[in-house]
Amino acid sequence: MLPRVSSLPSQNSPFHPSHPGSAPVSGSEPGSLRIGVDLGGTKIESVVVRLPGSATTPGRLPEVLARTRRPTDRERGYEHIVNAVADSIWDVASQAGLSPDRLPPIGVGMPGAVTRAGVIKNSNTTCLNGRPFRGDLIRRMGEPIAFANDANCFALAEATFGAGRGHEVVFGVILGTGVGGGIVLPTPDYPLSPGLSRPMLGRSWNGPQGIAGEWGHVTIDPEGPPCYCGRRGCVETYLCGPALEADYRQRSGQALALRDIASAAQAGHDPHASATLQNATRWFGRALATVINILDPDVIVLGGGVSLLDCWYNAGRAEVSRWVFTDELTTPIVRHQISDAAGVLGAALLPTSSPALTAEGSR
Ligand SMILES: [Zn+2]
Repeated sequence: MLPRVSSLPSQNSPFHPSHPGSAPVSGSEPGSLRIGVDLGGTKIESVVVRLPGSATTPGRLPEVLARTRRPTDRERGYEHIVNAVADSIWDVASQAGLSPDRLPPIGVGMPGAVTRAGVIKNSNTTCLNGRPFRGDLIRRMGEPIAFANDANCFALAEATFGAGRGHEVVFGVILGTGVGGGIVLPTPDYPLSPGLSRPMLGRSWNGPQGIAGEWGHVTIDPEGPPCYCGRRGCVETYLCGPALEADYRQRSGQALALRDIASAAQAGHDPHASATLQNATRWFGRALATVINILDPDVIVLGGGVSLLDCWYNAGRAEVSRWVFTDELTTPIVRHQISDAAGVLGAALLPTSSPALTAEGSR
């Protein structure tokens, strides 16, 4: 039988949920099992992983013991999603040979944030907004569960195992069907010094309102396109994949998938495609320079399907340089290293990097 791993920090730990501070990290037991769930707008992915035993093994990813995917079917509504996430957890646990009454600690990453009252806000799966998803899922599972925004999970995974490894402050950016961001800070109990490698886990910084790092909904033009959040001209409305495709459609009169727009721009035979990407890199530069001016992270890691475009790392970086408040931009802006698994791996790290909560728990 696999060992049961304690899912809540001890009562006297500063990381216990009752502690008024935020939710940092206390390290990782060698070989600990975790369940990670990435609740996306189109699919729910769950994994059972064994975390690497050593904090100093560079680049070592957790061993994935089981993985499941199922459609979110969000049009079927709130109750369906609660049940689908619970079923996904039980399925993946069963696939890994785990008993349903002895599950390892569970972390769930999802768009949006959980308010102090325990309800979801800011999710683009809008049927979750205003609903007590956290408490309902915890009650359904009968287990404490740690929650975080999906971009925070991405940033945590890249900071721990990927392109942000070895850096103190990591800003993770998701450029995909939506745009998000997440901040990972060094753990207070493992201060970094020159020559020391990064500890096993950073600390995902959520902020008291759960909106830290929410770069996608910074307004860069109050007269800009409407956003699902109810405001206009959010970064997301300029840099998400559908926005780039819409921009191209408007310029050229024809619809092309983003990868075809990128190929056409690279081949240099489609001025509309080039204009779409140039326009996007200008917004990217202005928007990301603001992040650097405020946070000055050690590295910025880009993830999501739109991050695969080359333009962000050359022309986009040059645009960032134009707007940032320093003579020479030294911040590395790099592509992610953990493919599309970062969200679910980051979720699996949550029970260690933030407190798992009971249904009545609050941050
Ligand atoms: Zn918005």
